[in-house]
Amino acid sequence: MRVTPRYIQPADGGLRCDLCPHRCLIADGRSGFCGVRTNSGGKPDLPYAGLLSTAALDPIEKKPLYHYHPGEMIYSIGFYGCNLRCPFCQNYAISQEFIRGGERRSPEETAAEAAGSGSFGIAYTYSEPLVHFEFLMETAALARERGLKNILVSNGFLNPEPAAEILSLMDAANIDLKSFSDDFYRRTLKGSLAPVLDFIRLAARKTHLEVTTLVIPGQNDSVREIGEIARFLAGLDPEIPLHMSCYVPRYKYRVRATTGSDLLPLLHEARRHLVYVYPGNIAGDADTRCPRCGALLIRRSGYRVEIVHEAGGFCGNCGKEIPLRRE
Ligand code: SF4
Repeated sequence: MRVTPRYIQPADGGLRCDLCPHRCLIADGRSGFCGVRTNSGGKPDLPYAGLLSTAALDPIEKKPLYHYHPGEMIYSIGFYGCNLRCPFCQNYAISQEFIRGGERRSPEETAAEAAGSGSFGIAYTYSEPLVHFEFLMETAALARERGLKNILVSNGFLNPEPAAEILSLMDAANIDLKSFSDDFYRRTLKGSLAPVLDFIRLAARKTHLEVTTLVIPGQNDSVREIGEIARFLAGLDPEIPLHMSCYVPRYKYRVRATTGSDLLPLLHEARRHLVYVYPGNIAGDADTRCPRCGALLIRRSGYRVEIVHEAGGFCGNCGKEIPLRRE
C-alpha cells in the first residue's frame, strides 16, 4: 500500500515539509517533528501511512460530538505521532511513544471496513490524524463515494492550504483549543496559537464544528482565559458547542485532576457567551436544552443518550431550530 507524499519538497539540507507550521527541514534518514514524515535517501517517505493504532466502533459522544448524529456509533481509527508535545497528553502511548501493535490498512480497505461496520462514517481520531494528511485525503474521498461521512478530531495545527483541502472532505470536526495563550502553546505544547485559531475559523465555515478545551488546574483554568476562548468562538457563531473536559494526570504531568467544582465557574463564564457548553470527562449536566423555552431536548448520562423533546433539528416544545445535524 502506498500513498503519495505531498507538501514535502527538496530543499537545501534535506526535504522541507510544509504541511504544518513547524515547516521541518528533514535530513536524510530522519523524520520531522511529528515522527511520521521521513527523508529516505532524499525521497519523502510515509512509513506510518495506514498503520492504524486503533480501529473501533465508538459512541459519537466519545469524540466528543453532541450535536452530530446523537446516540449513533461511529467507526473510529487512530494512528501514531503528533505535531504537538502536550506533556499532559491523554493518548501519549500512540501520539508520542509510538507503542506499536497496529495493523496496516489501505484507504480502500479502511473505507470498506467502515461501510461494513454499519456506521454512518469514519472518525479520524485518538492521536493526531492531520500528520497523516495523504492517507486521510484518500480515505475520506473513498468514504464519500460510499456515502459515508468523515469526521476529524484534531489539534488543528496545520498550514492554511492543506487545511482547506482536508476540511473540504470533512462533514464534522471537533478541534482542540487547548488555551488562549500563545505563550502556553509555544512553551508547553511546542506549537503556536494563531494557526489553530485560523483552522477553527475555517472549520466553522466549512463543516459542522464543535470545540474541546481540556481544563488543567493552574495552567489554562482562569475565568479570564475561558472567557477569551468563549468570546472567540461566539464571534464565529455563538451556537458552536464547547466541551470543557476535565484533565486527569497522564504522561509527564502530575498536576492534580480537574474537579467538578473547578469547572463550575468556568462553565458559568463560557455560558455567558455560548449557547451550548458541556462538561466532559466528569459526571455533570451534559444535557441539551432548548435555549428559548428550556425544554429538555437530549438527556445524556455517560454515553447513554435519550432524545426527549427534539425532532429533526427542532425543539419539540416551542419549535426553535437547534444546531443538530443528522444528514
Ligand atoms: S507535519 Fe510533521 S514533518 Fe511536516 S512540518 Fe509538521 S511536524 Fe514537521
